[in-house]
Amino acid sequence: MVDSYEPARQRNGFASRSAMETPHATSIPFNRPHSSEHELDYLAEAIGQGRTAGDGPFTRRASQLLKELTGAGCVLLTTSCTDALEMSAVLLDIQPGDEVIMPSFTFMSAANAFVLRGGVPVFVDCRADTLNLDERLVEGAITARTRAIVVVHYGGVGCEMEAITGLAERYGLALIEDNAHGLGGSYRGRPLGSFGCMATQSFHETKNIQCGEGGALLVNDTELLARAEVIREKGTDRSRFFRGQVDKYRWIDVGSSYLLSDVLAALLTSQLESFDKIQARRQAIWHRYHGELADWAAENGVSQPMVPDGCMQPAHLYYLLLPDMRNRQALIGHLAEEGVQATFHYQPLHTAPAGVRYGRVAAGGCPVSEQIAERLIRLPLFAGLAEMDVARVIEAVRAFEVS
Ligand SMILES: *Cc1c(COP(=O)(O)O)cnc(C)c1O
Repeated sequence: MVDSYEPARQRNGFASRSAMETPHATSIPFNRPHSSEHELDYLAEAIGQGRTAGDGPFTRRASQLLKELTGAGCVLLTTSCTDALEMSAVLLDIQPGDEVIMPSFTFMSAANAFVLRGGVPVFVDCRADTLNLDERLVEGAITARTRAIVVVHYGGVGCEMEAITGLAERYGLALIEDNAHGLGGSYRGRPLGSFGCMATQSFHETKNIQCGEGGALLVNDTELLARAEVIREKGTDRSRFFRGQVDKYRWIDVGSSYLLSDVLAALLTSQLESFDKIQARRQAIWHRYHGELADWAAENGVSQPMVPDGCMQPAHLYYLLLPDMRNRQALIGHLAEEGVQATFHYQPLHTAPAGVRYGRVAAGGCPVSEQIAERLIRLPLFAGLAEMDVARVIEAVRAFEVS
């Protein structure tokens, strides 16, 4: 089996459309999970090896590949990025009332992880250019109860890590990177995921590298490592037992079941081995959108992504910012009619029902996050998107006039 860079219509149930039908008989999905070279062989091997639980040979292979990619001190595969974030909250010993600073414009998993420990998310606005946590607003949100800062590198474009790591150090706060978008990206030559005491990755089917559902906790502070292994294994020292370091395993701490199955680690290994190929294809699509939509964007008052000098972005998503919500909705509708599935993104957490109940918003509110959420549209971007389909997306976008 070869890497499926061409849309695998047969396998996805779009077969048997005749060429006589309308030109848009086949629609272009927003995402299709990548299927890589050796995955079926690896799956067969994982199932045949006599053990399917975690911490097996494929877990070690995938962890090693991730370590090389991220420069992380240690990589622990988990059942999801959400679970890795939960592990980070347990590892930091978050107590009821402890505050954690995070962007409002992000996925709810970062907030949930701390709320589950009784923590209070403090939502800070994002920058209008990169859509990342606005580092200039962080210091004003720090109180005597603040324990940690969570950053999210939106679209894999690094946050202003120099300013943020400086603040974390000055105030003695833990820094966690939710690096779900940022695998393979870097900031001033240093891999994303290597700045925080911990970082989290996602291998959900919507991410560049995927195994259906999966994640990883990158542990850069080695003092956290022993306890991280225990928390991932239901609060037991089972990992040490398997290494022959203790003669029985016991319940020694709080924990849960956060270890990825070796079957999914087999899928993940095959994806990670295709990393360069997947990334090359995603980068080509990202840059084609960026170049070929530039004139249209300028003429229509639409903003394209901004990547600051010193940031290498891993082509996780391609977005456009329309002038307002009405035009954004109209463009989504127009593209749907053209057979192109495009979509909006995060709804700000500080206005979400659970965000209001469990968190608080930093002084000044999050006006930029509220605006961005209404104006942003994401275009289809996946390694299997064929050149002719990229052209179709571009043509369909260009046919839309902002009013
Ligand atoms: C996808 C994503 C998550 C959640 O990942 P799961 O592996 O599905 O738990 C968390 N944070 C961000 C920024 C994400 O994009």
